[in-house]
Amino acid sequence: MGANIEKIYECEVKRLFRKGRFSKEWRWMLKPVPEAISSADAKFRCKHCHGALKLQSKLLSDNASPHVVHKSRQDSEYCPAGIYFLLSKDGRLPRLSLKPL
Ligand SMILES: [Zn+2]
Repeated sequence: MGANIEKIYECEVKRLFRKGRFSKEWRWMLKPVPEAISSADAKFRCKHCHGALKLQSKLLSDNASPHVVHKSRQDSEYCPAGIYFLLSKDGRLPRLSLKPL
């Protein structure tokens, strides 16, 4: 595996919290990827750009740490954690996802 592969080891998951006596609210929490996977969370988002992430299961081998990548290439192009952003040499600035979760 080369270095030019996006690997994100932490992601935000949505959790329901009790708020006061009768109400609950959804909040994003930062979790290590293995923990996010083992819970039933359906949605992961990037802590930097808030874009959707997906589990990179195809690349997983026994000695690889579970990690996630941006679902959208566009997010990866403008996220500080995105491989396309990191490889870009045009001095572009990071920005939030165009379709934030
Ligand atoms: Zn991102």
